This record gives sequence, structure tokens and C-alpha cells, in this order.
Amino acid sequence: MATILITGGTGYIGAHCCLALAAAGHQPVVYDNLSNGHAQFVKWGPLVEGDIRDAARMKAAFAEHRPDLVLHCAGLIEVGESVKDPASFWDNNLVGSLTLLNAMREAHCRALVFSSTCATYGAPLQLPMDETHPQNPLNPYGWTKLAIERANQDFARAYGLKFAHLRYFNAAGAAAREGIGERHSPETHAIPLALFTLLGRREGFKIFGDDYDTRDGTCLRDYVHVLDLADAHVRAAERLLAGGESFAANLGTGDGVTVRELLAAIARVTSREVPASSAPRRDGDAPALVADNALARRELGWSPTRGLDAIIADAWEWHGEVEGRVFG
Ligand code: UDP
Repeated sequence: MATILITGGTGYIGAHCCLALAAAGHQPVVYDNLSNGHAQFVKWGPLVEGDIRDAARMKAAFAEHRPDLVLHCAGLIEVGESVKDPASFWDNNLVGSLTLLNAMREAHCRALVFSSTCATYGAPLQLPMDETHPQNPLNPYGWTKLAIERANQDFARAYGLKFAHLRYFNAAGAAAREGIGERHSPETHAIPLALFTLLGRREGFKIFGDDYDTRDGTCLRDYVHVLDLADAHVRAAERLLAGGESFAANLGTGDGVTVRELLAAIARVTSREVPASSAPRRDGDAPALVADNALARRELGWSPTRGLDAIIADAWEWHGEVEGRVFG
């Protein structure tokens, strides 16, 4: 059993990782400033309330809990916001990560699982994309994540850090029965927004662009269940703790789904049609993003076990039945 500090552990992916780590017998300790996360999601270990840019607070957390490994999920994630307010993104994401890396050095904690993203690749040169695809982000969000990957590599070379860079494709779904799920403010993601229209929380769903060079003109994405993502984090952590080498791995299913196919799947699962209309392309959207996940399969023994219908069913249960109860 390892003690694992999870920055951003009250957020969407961090909370599901806490669940999975605890189920695997590890002790999660959440470190979070609660700026975008939810205290309701802290269920599997203690919460240290603090900002990753606060070196003193971080140092105290390492001294008190003596983590064997850090799972670094904290950060700002909204792409559009990163274009409008890059200063906040560079400060939170990069300055925060450097503060964390220095706290780890000081505490002799040498294993890091980092929440990275397929947004570090930018526009795809080929599909599916493997980990050797050139990294040329389309927005400040992606650049901050890429810069952190670079800092981790330099710290690895000079100071013996071991890292896992987990590059997520489109995280979706929920662990509704455990009382956790997706909850962003503002919400910008396709699946929750489409479900909100069915719940009367929105007027209609806008399809951003129907003239892309894809099979039906709408953007192609690789939706991966957040519980499958969480499972990959446990495997990555255990690999590093067992003395494994640093690596970067894509986390996606390898299956591309267009926005129209997503809406058809939602209709199939919920037995209700999402009222949808075409709208202009959204700035910064890549036409298609699909993972080559061979490396995660090979190196982590990981494979996604939940398909698109399970993702939608779990998100539907979360937003439709559970979220309101958890947040009153
Ligand atoms: N999308 C859409 N309407 C929306 C939100 C998203 O058509 O209201 C599309 C978006 O253009 C993208 C896909 O759905 O092609 C997934 O978007 P999301 O924001 O969920 O994730 P992203 O791929 O941007 O990380």
C-alpha cells in the first residue's frame, strides 16, 4: 500500500482516481484549493486545502503525509478560457507545477503521474495518433501542459524524478453510484451539455461545425470512460513505485465518434432525441482526435472496458439522478 498525494483530487478526474486508488488498497491524500473542485468528492482519504503555488503549504503537506508518489491533476483546463486569460493558465499550471516539483525534490518524493492531454499534439498529422506524434498545441492550455511535460523530463534527467505522462483523450462518464461525476462551471463538454438539454437545463445542443472533413462533417473524438482513465492511473502509479522507467502514454479507446454519432448514441441510450442544430466551428477545435493506445496496452496492461453506451448511461445516471442529491 502506498500513500499518494493527489493534487486536484476534488476535481472530475482526480476524484475518480481517488476512488480507484483506494479500491486498489492505496491511501489517497487530496491536495486541492477547491477553486474548481468539490469538497463533496473527498471520500477516500484526507483533504489538505491548499494551492499548488503555495510552497509553504505544499512543504507542510509533504512533511505530514510523506507521500510515496504524487498524482498531479490540479490545473486549469478550459481551452477557451486559456485563450482569453493565458496569464492565469501559465501561473496556475506552470508555476504551480514547478512549485510542486520543487516540493517533491525537497521531500525526496521521486515519482509523479501527471495529467497531460492529447491537446499537446495539436492538429493531427495522422490518425490514430501515437506518442511520437509531434507536439504542437493549438492553444495556451495545451502549451502549459506541454511545458510541464518538458520540466518533468528535465527534472528526471537531473534529479532522478520518475514520471508518467498520461495524455487523455475525451474523458467522460461518471461513477454515479459512488456519488461522483462531471461537474464543471461553466460546462463546455459535449456529453453533459447534450444531456442537460434532455433535463431541461438548456434550450438545445449546438453542433460546432458540420463541414469538417470527417464521415458526416462533424468533429471526431475518442471518448474514454473516466473509470478506465482512473484504472490507468493506478497502473501507472504502481509501475513507477515498482521501479519502472518514465514514460508517456495515450489514454483513449482508439475509436473515433463524430458529434452526430454521439447524439445518436445518446438517443439510443436514453430513448430521447437531443434537439440539436448546426452552429459555426468552435475556435481551436481539431477536426479529429483518436488515440493509438497500443503503448498503454503493452506497458500498463491497460485496456478500456467501457464503451460509448456505458459512458452515456453512467453520465445520464449522474446528471439525471445523483448530481442533484449530492449538491442539494
Ligand atoms: N461540441 C459541440 N457542441 C457543444 C460542445 C462540444 O458540437 O456544445 C463538440 C466539439 O466541437 C468537439 C466535441 O463536441 O468536437 C467534443 O467537445 P468537448 O468540449 O466535449 O471536448 P474537447 O474535444 O473540446 O476536449
